[in-house]
Amino acid sequence: MTTIVVLVEQSQGNVRRASLEALGAAKSSGARVVAVVEGGEGTAPVLAKHGADRVVVLKGDGRSSPDRSAHDIAAVVREEGAKACLAAASSNGKQLMPRIAAELDSTVFSDCTGLDLSGATPKAVRPWLAGKLIATLESNAPVFCATLRPNTFAPREAPAAGELVTKPSSAALRALVASIDAKGGGKLDVKEAPVVVSGGRGMKGPEHFALLEELAAAFGNAAVGASRAVVDAGWRPHSEQVGQTGKTVSPQLYVAVGISGAIQHLAGMRTSKVIVAINKDADAPIFKVADYGIVGDAFEVLPALTAAVKAVRSQR
Ligand SMILES: Cc1cc2nc3c(=O)[nH]c(=O)nc-3n(C[C@H](O)[C@H](O)[C@H](O)COP(=O)(O)OP(=O)(O)OC[C@H]3O[C@@H](n4cnc5c(N)ncnc54)[C@H](O)[C@@H]3O)c2cc1C
Repeated sequence: MTTIVVLVEQSQGNVRRASLEALGAAKSSGARVVAVVEGGEGTAPVLAKHGADRVVVLKGDGRSSPDRSAHDIAAVVREEGAKACLAAASSNGKQLMPRIAAELDSTVFSDCTGLDLSGATPKAVRPWLAGKLIATLESNAPVFCATLRPNTFAPREAPAAGELVTKPSSAALRALVASIDAKGGGKLDVKEAPVVVSGGRGMKGPEHFALLEELAAAFGNAAVGASRAVVDAGWRPHSEQVGQTGKTVSPQLYVAVGISGAIQHLAGMRTSKVIVAINKDADAPIFKVADYGIVGDAFEVLPALTAAVKAVRSQR
């Protein structure tokens, strides 16, 4: 049986959903799955429930170093004789996977939206040219290393042994993270939220984003996103920007409000499962990719939509 190593991210014992999705993708291939997690032994039951046959916990000295993490994870890949190493295409996954691949003399397939690991030659699907083309790529690298776009693969409940193994981190320490200044304030990240409510220049000013915050709060599991025009104007932080020079999102539902639908914005959201566009211009390009379109003034539509979402949710 082949083995796949999955890099798992956790924070205070909570496993990130995107990591559970990567576990699900690995498990779907029928392989033996080894989850590698830095710290957080307590995550083993959750990882076992989602398909981890083995959970390798790397115990460090409290200091964080991407070089060392990559070195240690690559060592696990070698020890396990894995044919693939997967991670979420999160900031951390994007940072670590090229380093892991370099350690393994391999290459990276980044931001994949499809995988086929069942045959002798792994295949990956990923959007090219801002999502205008969908490429299927084959790998003949010694170890197939890939990052997976969040919200694209489903987590699976596939109870497995979850054998817990603890390994001390190695001494390899070149770059050290001295401190991390969290600016998100505990908010849901647009990359991981199942619902994203994004606003563009049509929102007219930063004060009106309260309307989007209210809609997001009504959904309960939503993050607020923004177009670049809005971020450049200083209305919203860059961490919320969706698009070619922002974040790529793939939520279950993407609501674009007062966003024209420039190609650079579409590059970041066109793989969303359901797209709703609200724009007063019926010819706005965003409607070409929208599943549902509302031609109207955002300032009239948003309060009505928020009330409707609240009403539906209160009936559950
Ligand atoms: C190299 C490069 C990279 C880029 N990267 C990105 C990126 O990552 N993300 C990104 O978003 N853009 C990016 N851009 C910019 C992009 O080309 C557009 O300029 C930008 O997306 C436009 O933002 P917008 O849709 O908010 O504004 P606009 O294009 O000004 O559109 C505003 C829309 O709001 C509508 N509207 C106005 N009033 C209302 C109302 N009351 N109710 C409802 N609708 C209303 C209008 O009809 C219009 O369609 C990039 C550009 C370049 C050159």
